[in-house]
Amino acid sequence: MERAEETFERSLKGFLWGCRMCGNCLLQETAFICPMACPKGLRNGPCGGSKPGQCCVDPSRPCIWYAIFERAEKMGRMEKLLEVLPPLDWNKTGTSALHDVYIQAKGYGLVNIARSVIRAAPGERVRKWDRFFSEIRQPDWWAGDAVPHNPPFHEPVSGLERVLSQGRFAITCELVPPPTNSFHVFDKKIGQLKGLVDGVNITDSPSATPHISSLVCAIRAAELGMDPILQMVARDRTRIGFQGDVLGAAASGIRNLLFITGDHPSLGQIPYSRMDIWDFDSVQAVWMARKMRDEGVLLDGRRINDRVNFFIGAGSAPFAMTPRFQALKTEKKVNAGAQFLQTNLVYDLPKFEAYLEALDKRDVLKRVHLLAGVAPIRNIRAANYLAELPGVEIPNQIMARLRSARDVIKESHQINLEIIEQLKSLPGVDGIHFMAIVNTDDLKRLLKESGLRGHTPEISNIRANEG
Ligand code: SF4
Ligand code: SF4
Repeated sequence: MERAEETFERSLKGFLWGCRMCGNCLLQETAFICPMACPKGLRNGPCGGSKPGQCCVDPSRPCIWYAIFERAEKMGRMEKLLEVLPPLDWNKTGTSALHDVYIQAKGYGLVNIARSVIRAAPGERVRKWDRFFSEIRQPDWWAGDAVPHNPPFHEPVSGLERVLSQGRFAITCELVPPPTNSFHVFDKKIGQLKGLVDGVNITDSPSATPHISSLVCAIRAAELGMDPILQMVARDRTRIGFQGDVLGAAASGIRNLLFITGDHPSLGQIPYSRMDIWDFDSVQAVWMARKMRDEGVLLDGRRINDRVNFFIGAGSAPFAMTPRFQALKTEKKVNAGAQFLQTNLVYDLPKFEAYLEALDKRDVLKRVHLLAGVAPIRNIRAANYLAELPGVEIPNQIMARLRSARDVIKESHQINLEIIEQLKSLPGVDGIHFMAIVNTDDLKRLLKESGLRGHTPEISNIRANEG
């Protein structure tokens, strides 16, 4: 019987939707377009590199999530996309998702369903239909929804959270752990950043290439008196490893966590890592971490003995898709539990403002702290590289200024001063997140000349704060 169901589903849904038999069907939620065509297997919206009509992993095909958003908008089902959808139950992959529908229908009773469909008013009928499928796609171990999950009132758990909650303009900076077997370079950089910034993002194997573990480096940074922001990418973890690392961070006194889906392995080096399995995405990571913190449970329902306390962050991509679509994806992350956002690099201010407006329309800005991404550019090669990165847009006039400059570093510095000046005055921007800092002197100059240097970083001794 099961084999017959599978064959039927494979042929029918394969023909109509290109079904890959994930066994956890979301067509109801995704405007009847199969999301599994996404090379990252994302089930909660687009990645930060999506563009209208083009996938950032495989430019020969369109971004499937753009198609989903576009159709959902036409069908008036945009808000359906806010629901935090669960990761795959791998036990079901390859099996018939229609079987779940059959079991659910049997539970309700076929006659009862027919009666309630016939008797219900049209609006009520849609609601009943939605509820019927929602119970199938939201198992008890997930119970995702589309409503905000604000953290319970608490004292700030980190220096960064304290700065932001006091309404002070925060400065964070990215630090890439070296691909070596010693902390020598890392310690030196932490020493240089001390006293300059409120938090240091410890990146997690960026560009899909291995570096010292971000968790280990975050612990090291905390020991050296810095407030680390531990980045964790979904790409390299299963949900088991992820929860283990979150517990490890809690036990080690790391309080700022930032979750991102991660660059596709095809961005990395040969030999490429496995590309076809993504166990979860950034929205699901935020959801899992928030449940661990606020409900004290693991995904399998087991309780965590001691309270874990985190300041949860996520990445945001102002230049992906269109502002209104991207704002919805951002709202989803904030609803799931993100308390602060760090954006991709901002060079195109009018587009960035459009994104902020879209966030404001959705009432997101007042519920989250947003730090805008800024990076110094040291040469034209770096500018060309950045302009090609998924989710980064450098307007032509900025590229022209850099190309015609005698001294690219000086021109890039001037451009960044102008950008920071405008960012400081934009409502909804709560800080600056510096990326790609090769030389700490660049950062010092930027902080000094932009007036941000007057700001006193909050260096917290996390362990001392725990009591
Ligand atoms: S979501 Fe899964 S079950 Fe549904 S059409 Fe796509 S691959 Fe098939
Ligand atoms: S652009 Fe990103 S979200 Fe869109 S299909 Fe490609 S990998 Fe998936």
